[in-house]
Amino acid sequence: MTFSLKILLLEDNQDDADLLHRELKKSGLNFISEIVQTRQDFENAIQNFNPDIILSDYSLPAFDALSAFRIRQKRCPHIPFIIVSGIIGDENAVELIKNGVTDYAPKNKLFALSQKISRALKDAEERKEKEIITEKLQQQTAELIIANRELVFQNEEKEKQSAELNIAYKKLQEASEELQLQEVIQLSEKSFRQLADLMPQIVWTASGDGSINYFNKQWFEYTGFEEGHDRQSWIAILHADDVQQWQETFNNSIKTGTPYQIEFRFKDRKHTGTYRWFLCRALPVKDSEENITKWIGTCTDINDAKRIQEDLQQTEQRRADFIKMVSHELKTPVTSIKGYVQLLLMIIEEAEGKYNPSQIKNSLSRINYQVSRLTRLITEMLDVSRIETGKLELQNTLFSLNDLVTETVEDILHTNTRHTINIYHDVTCTIVGDRDRIEQVVINFVANAIKYSPDNSEIDVRIQAGENGKNEVAVSVKDYGIGIDTIEHKKIFERFYRVSEENEQTYPGFGIGLFIAKEIIERHNGFIKIESEKKKGAVFSFTLPLATDSV
Ligand code: ADP
Repeated sequence: MTFSLKILLLEDNQDDADLLHRELKKSGLNFISEIVQTRQDFENAIQNFNPDIILSDYSLPAFDALSAFRIRQKRCPHIPFIIVSGIIGDENAVELIKNGVTDYAPKNKLFALSQKISRALKDAEERKEKEIITEKLQQQTAELIIANRELVFQNEEKEKQSAELNIAYKKLQEASEELQLQEVIQLSEKSFRQLADLMPQIVWTASGDGSINYFNKQWFEYTGFEEGHDRQSWIAILHADDVQQWQETFNNSIKTGTPYQIEFRFKDRKHTGTYRWFLCRALPVKDSEENITKWIGTCTDINDAKRIQEDLQQTEQRRADFIKMVSHELKTPVTSIKGYVQLLLMIIEEAEGKYNPSQIKNSLSRINYQVSRLTRLITEMLDVSRIETGKLELQNTLFSLNDLVTETVEDILHTNTRHTINIYHDVTCTIVGDRDRIEQVVINFVANAIKYSPDNSEIDVRIQAGENGKNEVAVSVKDYGIGIDTIEHKKIFERFYRVSEENEQTYPGFGIGLFIAKEIIERHNGFIKIESEKKKGAVFSFTLPLATDSV
């Protein structure tokens, strides 16, 4: 089927319409047409006939070309609109074309109509193509705008993503630095622990509130706790008397943020079960805002040092007491000597040459006694100094121990009339040694027995075989006096030591006699022993090796 051009013809005159048909057919145009005369038909035809071109008479009885043109403008502006008329004249025609009418064909020149139709159709076609192209272009532009927007959006998205990536990267970097830092911390912690384990002290760390989170090896060594025990249980082995002081010191340090140092006792639960003294020092570690984040501390065993310090303090105290006593003890015989000398002078003056020998004898023996006391005191003091400097020399000879004991006791009895001293010679023996020094020991034992048994007059001195066999001899001095508590047995042989203040005030003395005696006997390769209980008297004895053939 060949293409037919659809022509909508607005014409009221049939003759003119026929003429027009003929003319067009003559020109060889292949077409179909619909002829209308009214507005209604015209609008219907546009709707239903769907024309390719409109040919319109200028003036119709019920309608006109201008009204038709306005409808076409509104409903189908792309369809060419040619006015075919015999009355409008060229000027009007030009005006109409200016307003949008496609063309004008006078009715008396219809031969040119087919050309005008062709041109109008071509123009319309071109216009349509242009429109399509423009539309396409517009669409593409719109699409481009959308695409651009999309791109902008994508760009923004990318920028956003890039910013997010940057943040993520930074976080990664920070995390990696954190990791490196943690590695460094872990490494330094490892080194810290190795170092701490090498230290002889107990080393610990705690969190800001004081909860312990680390102990070094020495802690487990000392306490016997297993690794992984409840670290807070350290307080359980702190001496009950030291808990409060520690708590106060620690609270104060937390408040002031300052280091603390305290001495307290920890139970040696692994070894002896007894308490030992420790010096605990703790240092707070703070962050940039001065908050305590950690505590680092050490506990140093100062038990031995503390004991030495205590001993030194005691010795110092005893030395001070000693000086006090020396001055007192020296004053007593000197005052007494002075008194007796004055008495003697008075007796001589008053008697005018007639002496009372018994009075003078008595005074002289008193002077003699006091001078002996003084000599003994001075000798003992010199001996202490000799022992301290290692200069106590022995003049060894072979002598009879039995004779020595007998003579010494007799000498003592000359000045002491209150006590009875019984001597028992279970064995007879000779020994090699410094006779004067051994005598000094016997004097000390017997003098003490007299001094510390004021209410009992019996004293037993015995020379017997040593406990360890035939090669030893022992001399014991037994009294029935005040006795000595077991706890004091070791101490009474220390320099300047005297049992309790009560005794010190009641009985004169320096606390050096037994110290010297022990030294003398040990220098003779012997030993001293004491058996006593409070209020049950005392037995002091020394044991010496017997003499061999050589002197
Ligand atoms: P002192 O000059 O004080 O007697 P010693 O060294 O001889 O010094 O004795 C030391 C201490 O031992 C005395 O102070 C006394 O407390 C105690 N002591 C010594 N002998 C006896 C004893 N026979 N009975 C009771 N206590 C004694």
